[in-house]
Amino acid sequence: MAADEHNEDGQADADNLVVLSKSARRRRTRARALATWGETAEQTRARRTALFKAQALACGFSRVGVARAQALPQAQAHLEAWLAAGHHGTMTWLADDVARRCDPLRVVPGAQSVVVLALDYDSAAPRTREVALQAEDRAWISRYAWGDDYHLVAEKRLKQLEIALTTALKPELGEHFRGPGGPIQPFKALRDLRWMVDHGPMLEREWAVRAGLGWRGKHTLVVHPRHGSLFFLACLVTSIDLEPDAPIGDFCGSCTACLDACPTQAIVAPYIVDARRCISHTTIETLGEIPVQERQLVGDQVFGCDICQDVCPWNRFSQPGDPAFAPRPGLVAPRLDDLLALDADSFARQFAQNPVKRRGLAGLQDNARAVREQRSTLRKQ
Ligand code: SF4
Ligand code: SF4
Repeated sequence: MAADEHNEDGQADADNLVVLSKSARRRRTRARALATWGETAEQTRARRTALFKAQALACGFSRVGVARAQALPQAQAHLEAWLAAGHHGTMTWLADDVARRCDPLRVVPGAQSVVVLALDYDSAAPRTREVALQAEDRAWISRYAWGDDYHLVAEKRLKQLEIALTTALKPELGEHFRGPGGPIQPFKALRDLRWMVDHGPMLEREWAVRAGLGWRGKHTLVVHPRHGSLFFLACLVTSIDLEPDAPIGDFCGSCTACLDACPTQAIVAPYIVDARRCISHTTIETLGEIPVQERQLVGDQVFGCDICQDVCPWNRFSQPGDPAFAPRPGLVAPRLDDLLALDADSFARQFAQNPVKRRGLAGLQDNARAVREQRSTLRKQ
């Protein structure tokens, strides 16, 4: 027996009656220090799922759910039919690379789990129809755009989450290690874990439903029985195996409040929105002035539209959300005079890191003028 095959006391390993070299002892000590030591595959999955969820909440997300990563052929068929009907309007990027958008394994090779994160944005401010907009010569900016831009907020938190997960999991996944459950792939943070907000190649709403964060309402947004629909979504795709959550079912029932309330009949059938008719698309995505023939239906909206969500009975249970989305001064039902008086500097100040910035000063004021002109036309009739 060679000297380096004895343990530190110069003895053979008494437990296993085998003699370990120094390097084998080091490997064994390292392995025993890992969280996976002695766990079954199910225990490892449960512990990592709890870690992902706890870290997501610690990074400021409101809720988190997990779905099994897999291709979504049915969702792809629906998306292709929706695109073929032209319902996406000018949002041509939605037609790019449809197969990739419907298959997380094309986003992260070897993906096993999709983690879906929700960020609540409601506030105690009134709903669209609770303000005398016309009488007070005010307009409406969509509720989601009253505070900070959710892309910026979510991206910052997703970066924090990635660092937290990488730090926590690297000791157990960062090396080639043959544990009790078989070989574990090395953890390569950037390749095996990818997150995205809504401009990434993922169908967030579909994943949110699969991850148990709500059901797809007839207005196509995700609705939760206790939190309503006023939340943003982000996804994180990972090759780490996590426990999926169960979907919660559809509770729209016989309700048609959103279809009935939509001024433009943009919800052309339950669960199908024609974006070309949707006021959000008209006031945010469409370049140039709102066509005169559409102004009556666009009504008081200068950026987005909340009507179908405001009438949804499930939003009665919605609570004020993340402080990052709390309304900035002057953005809840702004006065048309104030919007039309903005100049480049005041617009940049008021809408810094806010979604309305995307529309630009000229676009916002075009919309504000359209609202004013429409009101003036109605008064003359
Ligand atoms: S956002 Fe407004 S226009 Fe679009 S579907 Fe909802 S109610 Fe209709
Ligand atoms: S308004 Fe009614 S039909 Fe529309 S999403 Fe809400 S519950 Fe469903």
